[in-house]
Amino acid sequence: MAKQSLETIEKKRGLFAQRVLTLVLVFVGVFTLTYIVGLAATRHNARALVEPTETVTTDDKTDDKTDNKDKTDDNGETGTTAQPAQSNGHTIYLTFDDGPGPYTEKLLDILKEHDVKVTFFVTHVFSQYEGLLKREKKEGHAIGIHSYSHDYTKIYASTEAFWNDSAAMQDVIVKQTGEETKLMRFPGGSSNTVSKDTPGIMTKLVKEAGDKGFSYFDWNVASGDAGATTSADDVLQNCKVGAANHKNAVILCHDVKEYTVNAMEAFITWAKENGYTFAALTPESDGAHHQIFN
Ligand SMILES: [Zn+2]
Repeated sequence: MAKQSLETIEKKRGLFAQRVLTLVLVFVGVFTLTYIVGLAATRHNARALVEPTETVTTDDKTDDKTDNKDKTDDNGETGTTAQPAQSNGHTIYLTFDDGPGPYTEKLLDILKEHDVKVTFFVTHVFSQYEGLLKREKKEGHAIGIHSYSHDYTKIYASTEAFWNDSAAMQDVIVKQTGEETKLMRFPGGSSNTVSKDTPGIMTKLVKEAGDKGFSYFDWNVASGDAGATTSADDVLQNCKVGAANHKNAVILCHDVKEYTVNAMEAFITWAKENGYTFAALTPESDGAHHQIFN
């Protein structure tokens, strides 16, 4: 009896130990599994936290809501890569005169974010921003001469005065970008009458520009920022109408006007959504030449 009960006790102890061991193993197993799953979840959340932050950095420069669809495929590096709408066959040549100036950097950020190339017709007027010519060039924009001084009386005093002023700007461009430009835009356009005190000078300059190997550009769309308006909404509207009416729209803008720069995000978004293509001017592009009055 005593022996049997001892065996029973021992058996029971063995069974008990086995159960404890199983329990411990199950506990350890569950604990390990929970830990692994928890770790993976934490890592996933960490990634999920990083990604929206990256897109927010590019998007918080604007309060424009229309580019929301771009966020999903934006990897934060190359900016907006939204699939453009099917091409409508129209090309927009945005041109910015008189800079670089205080708003040029902001404009360059917008252009970079949307991967849009434009043309800058530059001057020495805001010389403290001249270093931005390097960035304009590096980011794929075209650069053309728009005079060194932008002083109508001075530059249109004689053809010699004009080309001396022009050469000074070419020097600045070469110094900043390492390359000469063959693009130019006459201050006031080739149709200007501000040069009327020197009769016939525009006719001469247009011919000489060709002789010197320059391609000069006027425009067929005015954003209105040369004096007609000071409102970003008006600039936006003028650009939209102009782009719709021209297969090749050469749009006159000024990056020294803050309201113009403020209109660009909305204009570019609208244009891309509606199948327009943006391009920088080349010497072979259509010059959108004006009638010459002097
Ligand atoms: Zn100008």
